[in-house]
Amino acid sequence: MSSSVIDFVATEARFGARNYEPIGVVLSRGEGVWVWDTEGNRYLDCLSAYSAVSQGHCHPKILAAMVEQAHRLTLTSRAFHNDQLALFYEEIAALTGSHKVLPMNSGAEAVESAIKSVRKWGYEVKGVPDGQAEIIVCANNFHGRTLGIVGFSTDPETRTHFGPFAPGFKIIPFGDAAALEEAITPNTVAFLVEPIQGEAGVIIPPAGYFTKVRELCTANNVMLVLDEIQTGLGRTGKLLAEQHEGIEADVTLLGKALSGGFYPVSAVLSNNDVLGTLRPGQHGSTFGGNPLACAVARAALRVLVEEGMIENAARQGARFLEGLKDIRANTIRDVRGRGLMLAVELHPEAGRARRYCEALQGKGILAKDTHEHTIRIAPPLVITSDEVDWALERLATTLTQDFA
Ligand SMILES: *Cc1c(COP(=O)(O)O)cnc(C)c1O
Repeated sequence: MSSSVIDFVATEARFGARNYEPIGVVLSRGEGVWVWDTEGNRYLDCLSAYSAVSQGHCHPKILAAMVEQAHRLTLTSRAFHNDQLALFYEEIAALTGSHKVLPMNSGAEAVESAIKSVRKWGYEVKGVPDGQAEIIVCANNFHGRTLGIVGFSTDPETRTHFGPFAPGFKIIPFGDAAALEEAITPNTVAFLVEPIQGEAGVIIPPAGYFTKVRELCTANNVMLVLDEIQTGLGRTGKLLAEQHEGIEADVTLLGKALSGGFYPVSAVLSNNDVLGTLRPGQHGSTFGGNPLACAVARAALRVLVEEGMIENAARQGARFLEGLKDIRANTIRDVRGRGLMLAVELHPEAGRARRYCEALQGKGILAKDTHEHTIRIAPPLVITSDEVDWALERLATTLTQDFA
């Protein structure tokens, strides 16, 4: 059988659960900011696997670390020590200023692990009566797809017919510090929030919000848990998005770019005794902290810093945002972003964002719509000025078309 585009697409549709609706391109190769389809067409990747490929596709140094480690030792389980985990701990702690690290695999697992840990901390350190712990989250959050997490989503698509859900979560509006103050009770153990809401459409909270949030959490002995799975590791032009606000979370969640797209690696980082409440046998993961994951993550962190990707994200992000703002098109309702986490929100009358993404594909750009009317733009952090300008030219011609 020939390997034409239609075979891959049709075969996926025939056998696969239809939980995604991919754009009609079949990719077979990637390098840096570029990917190629099975026909040899080249595209600028403006999604970066939802920011997991921040270091660029198939980064040679991460690849070398992965291959080298795969030849030596891949998995031991945590029943034994391995010679990579301690080095991973040391390096990520030094980079982020954290005291304790819990390695997991997917982002959702890091979120679940943080929820378990802050609850345990609440009962054993804060003194919340057993079974009464409350966690505050925000409307329009995205923290992953497990049962625990979708239970406190406000998106009907995410929740419907997956219940019953776990209790213990309170939902408040994002960006509203007064709402947080009002929601906190003596049983509140944590506030779980994204620094910038990514899946919701790159929603940036008002200036000063996180300063107030930090003050409220400190004053009420509530753990501030920042989900930096998407915003972290340079995406917004700083190592962590919390640095834009001049605050420090009590618990920081990382994933996605922690492996540069090679392997699922996530981590819970804590600045205090939250992770200290976990005792042997109380939490775990067969693959969490395995030597292959640790070697890959170590290389992914190293190249991020050594190759100046964080500074480049700030520089190219500013250029990209300016360029998007300069596009005069009456399809555009709003343009926003921080670093290389950008979005173009279209007027509802302009038609679905999906149509624009399909048109962009025809011009050699892969981008992803979110929530009907928003195009999200998040290229790898290694993008150059010329590549930004190249993308802007194509975005300008596409956005001045009308697909209503
Ligand atoms: C992607 C994402 C997650 C979930 O990560 P998975 O690896 O898909 O489980 C959680 N939080 C945020 C903010 C994310 O962007």
